[in-house]
Amino acid sequence: MENYAKVMGVKFPKITLDRTVEILSSVIEQKRSQLFHVITVNPEITMACQKDKLLRSILDDAGLITADGIGIVMVSRLRGGNLPERVTGYDMLLRLLDSGNQKKWSFYFLGADPNTNLKVVEVIRDKYPDLLILGRHHGFFKQNEEDKIVEEIGSLKPDILIVALGAPNAERWIHKYRLKLNAKIAIGVGGSLDVIAGKVKETPESWKRLNVEWLYRLIQQPSRWKRQLILPRFAIRALLFREKSKL
Ligand code: UDP
Repeated sequence: MENYAKVMGVKFPKITLDRTVEILSSVIEQKRSQLFHVITVNPEITMACQKDKLLRSILDDAGLITADGIGIVMVSRLRGGNLPERVTGYDMLLRLLDSGNQKKWSFYFLGADPNTNLKVVEVIRDKYPDLLILGRHHGFFKQNEEDKIVEEIGSLKPDILIVALGAPNAERWIHKYRLKLNAKIAIGVGGSLDVIAGKVKETPESWKRLNVEWLYRLIQQPSRWKRQLILPRFAIRALLFREKSKL
């Protein structure tokens, strides 16, 4: 059986959330010098990288790609690729915090608005007292502040750099500074810090199980409707897409 499913030319490894966390734990234990970039690829990124060559090369360079959202998983199943489940940034982050608390990993939290960034670190410190929070910075910095932030992260050398700057900005940012960040793992987590800090409500398990998280988020944040128009467009294009080769 092939180990990858291709969706619009993007190769998704057929891995569960459990396996993803295992892979990331071993990356941290390995003490490698190169940054391991994890990208949770949603329909928006999949569509954007059809035209955006730089974004495409960022995906090609990633250490690991996961299927962010039921749209990707369903298309893979209809096309015979059978991804086992979605592996979102939020679920991955919670698992990494949990493992980090047990194994004393170090973290840096970049992104979200200033209040949320402050709050999220307090919540995490409270809930996961044994993990190391090396630093934090909100995500509304100016261009001329960027070098200082990169330098700070680079000198702190976190095991895991969490980046909440929205997708695909986080992915571009991590890739741009990958040689200077000195983190073992960097991952863009979308709006996850907003949820952990309590700014945005978490999607209840029942909605997630029914695969209608997108609907819940739409009800909570109606302003997202324009962005979600991409979902039916993605489904049609992805189902009709002619993959160049099976692998
Ligand atoms: N964000 C940020 N700086 C920016 C734009 C966004 O820190 O310049 C943060 C925003 O506050 C939120 C996160 O990025 O915490 C993700 O935003 P959104 O939900 O729009 O992105 P997605 O979930 O689609 O990645």
